[in-house]
Amino acid sequence: MAQPVPRLEIRNLVRRFGGQTVVDHVSLSVMPGQVTCLLGPSGCGKSTTLRMIAGVEMQDSGEIYVDGNLICDTVFRIPPERRHIGLMFQDFALFPHLSVGDNVAFGLKGTKEEKRARVEELLDKVGLKRFIDGFPYLLSGGEQQRVALARALAPRPRIMLMDEPFSGLDNRLRDDIRDQTLELLKEEDAAVLLVTHEPEEAMRMADEIALMRKGKIVQQGAPYNIYNAPVDKQAVSFFSDIN
Ligand code: ADP
Ligand code: MG
Repeated sequence: MAQPVPRLEIRNLVRRFGGQTVVDHVSLSVMPGQVTCLLGPSGCGKSTTLRMIAGVEMQDSGEIYVDGNLICDTVFRIPPERRHIGLMFQDFALFPHLSVGDNVAFGLKGTKEEKRARVEELLDKVGLKRFIDGFPYLLSGGEQQRVALARALAPRPRIMLMDEPFSGLDNRLRDDIRDQTLELLKEEDAAVLLVTHEPEEAMRMADEIALMRKGKIVQQGAPYNIYNAPVDKQAVSFFSDIN
């Protein structure tokens, strides 16, 4: 049988700031229907990696592929809005002056009716359709997060990049929101690259973990393989906080 093509693949991405190599030959992939977690301590280069994939930061070298097609190397570059990539950050960054519905519709093309239908569909899925004409400040943190998810999914991205999207949330809500988010991402057929510094989150959400340290991937594999056989002492202590 032919090997399935990764939804997202990056090869040897490098980014330097000043004399420092912040992302050092990072390679990883995300298969369709799966969640890959880029896991590592603060400052190791996770967000920079994500920004290059999103296209808002340029790599010094390396290639990015979506569905096997090159979307960016050092000479060729498809702009961010044509990469079929959705983004979610810790700071949900909803537009405060737009209604919830207009926030979700923001990146959409098509007729007014088509947009409205898609917005209603997504707000219904995240359980917030009743707020369609309300404004973001009326919503709790968890609700705003769900609107941000609906907005990111509205243009039907092939890949969702998520940068610590749950870290601003109340502990009590977090597990439920994680589960609901995964379910919706699967339903919408978006493969996920999730950045986190929390081993527990990676263990809960990932199909595949790429463990990053000082700009490099030091270990890659299924969560339980990494948990049961950490690559070195530093990885052991990194995972030891999980209870
Ligand atoms: P993480 O998301 O893992 O916490 P980042 O990718 O944000 O890490 O940052 C990795 C390193 O790169 C940090 O040392 C940070 O200070 C540095 N860095 C990130 N962006 C820039 C920039 N635009 N200019 C200079 N240094 C940067
Ligand atoms: Mg970061």
